[in-house]
Amino acid sequence: MIPSKTDAPSAGEPRLEPIGIHQRFRFSCHPGVPCFNLCCRDLNQFLYPYDILRLRRRLGLTSGEFLSAYTRQHVGPETGLPVVSLRPASSDHRECPFVTEAGCAVYEDRPASCRTYPLARAVSRNRETGRVTEHWAVLREPHCRGFETDNAQTVAEFISDQETAVYNRYNDLLLDILRLKNQKMPGPLPLRERHIFHLALYDLDAFRQKATDAATLRDLHLPPERIERLQTEDIALLEVAHRWVGRVLFGKEPVLGIGGADGVD
Ligand code: SF4
Ligand code: SF4
Repeated sequence: MIPSKTDAPSAGEPRLEPIGIHQRFRFSCHPGVPCFNLCCRDLNQFLYPYDILRLRRRLGLTSGEFLSAYTRQHVGPETGLPVVSLRPASSDHRECPFVTEAGCAVYEDRPASCRTYPLARAVSRNRETGRVTEHWAVLREPHCRGFETDNAQTVAEFISDQETAVYNRYNDLLLDILRLKNQKMPGPLPLRERHIFHLALYDLDAFRQKATDAATLRDLHLPPERIERLQTEDIALLEVAHRWVGRVLFGKEPVLGIGGADGVD
């Protein structure tokens, strides 16, 4: 049984406490906690392009099949940007489509926000030096009992254990595209530009068909052997897709932030 949120102590409001990368916090999540799976309901789970890449591969689907089977797609009212989120079950609890009695059915490929919880990450970029800085906070929500433990780890240890670096690498690329958008095209993104953004970043298999065409990618000056690799290598394609969107829509390529391990191809 997935416990009800009313089974958990609920005194107090959620608190966000800033924490340094080398500071320790007590937390342990495992099937023995009384709130097991509770955070996988009342779903409001946005997906980044790299989340979609990992999930659709895990499920053996094309990006188009994954998007229509598991997601809801909307448009940010002020930005005009396409937004993709996991479609919750239609039951009262609005569970994630991947939660089971035994836990997450896609655990090794779960999205970045599931890996990062109960931490929250923000990045800022120095306008003069371009240097990117990470900021961390612990989100203490009343229903989460994972804090009732003696098990303590630093933020650095936790995120290494959760293998978030590769997710952050590609998510930061997207954030840099959003920065370019705010600079070059503030206000709602027009329809044509919205389609381009969605095609390249969320529907990667559809973009792959376009990326066979050297003329499409000419502004990126890729050597022919690199274009050929895009037909089989998802990570290479995702990176090119970010560069292409930046160049085509906003006249500039996004830059990597903190970096991190390369993804799985
Ligand atoms: S993907 Fe897994 S961890 Fe994330 S909400 Fe769904 S079931 Fe929970
Ligand atoms: S301990 Fe927190 S993160 Fe783990 S299942 Fe419970 S609510 Fe979710």
